[in-house]
Amino acid sequence: MEDDKLLKEISDAVSSMPIFDTHEHLMSEEERRLQNLDVFYLFSHYVGSDLISSGMSEDDFNALFDKNIDMEKRWSIFSLHFENVRNTSYSQIVLESVKDLYGFNDINKDNYLELSQKLESTKKRNWYDYILTEKCNIRYMLDFIENMPGIIDQKPLDRKDCLAVKNFDDFISVCCMEDIARFEKKYNVNIYKFKDYLDMIDRICEDSRKAGYRALKIVLAYFRTISFEEVTFAEADKIFSGFFKLKDYGFFERVDFLSKDELKPLQDFLVHYIIQKAIENQWPVQIHTGLLNGNRGDVSNTNPCYLVNLFMKYKNCKFDIFHAGFPYSNELITITKQFTQVYFDLCWIQQVSFDLYRETLNTAMETIPANKIFAFGGDNFILECTYGSQKMVRKIITELLYEKVKKNYFSFDQAIRFAEKILYLNPKTVYDLNLS
Ligand SMILES: [Zn+2]
Repeated sequence: MEDDKLLKEISDAVSSMPIFDTHEHLMSEEERRLQNLDVFYLFSHYVGSDLISSGMSEDDFNALFDKNIDMEKRWSIFSLHFENVRNTSYSQIVLESVKDLYGFNDINKDNYLELSQKLESTKKRNWYDYILTEKCNIRYMLDFIENMPGIIDQKPLDRKDCLAVKNFDDFISVCCMEDIARFEKKYNVNIYKFKDYLDMIDRICEDSRKAGYRALKIVLAYFRTISFEEVTFAEADKIFSGFFKLKDYGFFERVDFLSKDELKPLQDFLVHYIIQKAIENQWPVQIHTGLLNGNRGDVSNTNPCYLVNLFMKYKNCKFDIFHAGFPYSNELITITKQFTQVYFDLCWIQQVSFDLYRETLNTAMETIPANKIFAFGGDNFILECTYGSQKMVRKIITELLYEKVKKNYFSFDQAIRFAEKILYLNPKTVYDLNLS
C-alpha cells in the first residue's frame, strides 16, 4: 500500500537539503555570456557524444554551432538525429531542465526559436546565483576547469561557493622538448635536469595552495591505463634525460617525442610524486574511473582495481573515486568497503542513466559505510543540466529512502540523516575544512 504522507515528508526533507557538489566543469558567468546561447548549446556537451554515437557526422554536429548557418537549417539537421537520442538520460536531463527553468514541456520545431531567445536573455541576469543558489541549493561546488577543452578562462571561478580543483596532467604527460620549452616560458624557469622539473612542480603546488585550491584531480584515464606502478627516481630521471636528445625540425615545425610505452614509467613516477604533494597540501585526490565522456574511448583502461596499490600505499590520502567506477561499480563498491580512506562518488551517473544511479546507490547504501558515499556531482559544462541533475538525484534518493522506510530498513529519522550525509555532510567533512 502506498503511503503518500510518508513519501511527501521524505520528499520535502530531501528537496530542501543543501548540496555539496563534488564535481562540475562550469565556466565563469562572464565567459558563459560570451557563448552563443541558442537551443543547440543545450546539446553541446553529453548529448553530443550520443549524437555522434548514433551516427551523426562530426561535420553535421559542428554545423549546429555555426552561426553562419541559419537556425532553421541547423534545426533540420538536428531534429533528424535527436529522435535517436531522446531516450537516453543525457537527453532527459536537458528536457527536465528546460521544463522547469524555461517552461517548455518538450523541445520541438514549434518552440526551439522561443527557447533560444529565453536562453539568450539569461545573460542579462545573475543566472548562476539563480540556478546554483536559489534553484539547486548548492552550498559548495568543486569546479574543475583546468586543461578542459573549450573553456578559455581556466582560472578558478570568483564565487564564494566555488572551490577550485588542481590538475597536473599537463606536467605528467610531458613528451617532448617543445613541452619543456612551453613550461620554461610559462613558469619562468630553466629546466636542465629532472630535478629542475620536480622543483617547478613543487613551486606550482605551493602557489596553488596559497591561491586556495582544495583538491587534486587525475584525469589520465582518458589517455592511458590508470595502473600507476612503482618507479625509482633513477628510472624516471633516465627517461626524462632522453628528452634532451630529441630533435626539433624547426623548418618543418615537427618535433621528436617519446612513445606512450617509453613514457609510461616516467608518468607513473610523476603520479606518485604528485599524490605525495597532495598529501602535503591536505588535498583529497579525485580520480576519474570508468566511463569516458566522448566517443571511441578505451574503457578497459579505467578499472578502479588498478588503483589498489595507491590505496595500499597512501593511507593518509583521501581518495574521492569518480563516476561510481561504472561499469566497474561493483569493483569500486568492494574497494570502498575495504579501504578507510576511499570514497565512492556517484558524480555524473545520474546523467548516464537514472536507473543505473538508483541501483548503484541502493547497492552502495547496503554495502558501504554511510560516511563514505558522495551522492552528487553534476559534472556539467552546461549550467542548466546541473539543475536537472540535482532534481533527478533528489527524486531518486527520495524514492529509494521511501522504500527503505516502508521495509523498516531505516526509521524516518535515519533515512533523512542518511540523505543529509550523502548529499552534503560527507564531502564537506572530507574537503573540510573551515567551511561553515
Ligand atoms: Zn568531469
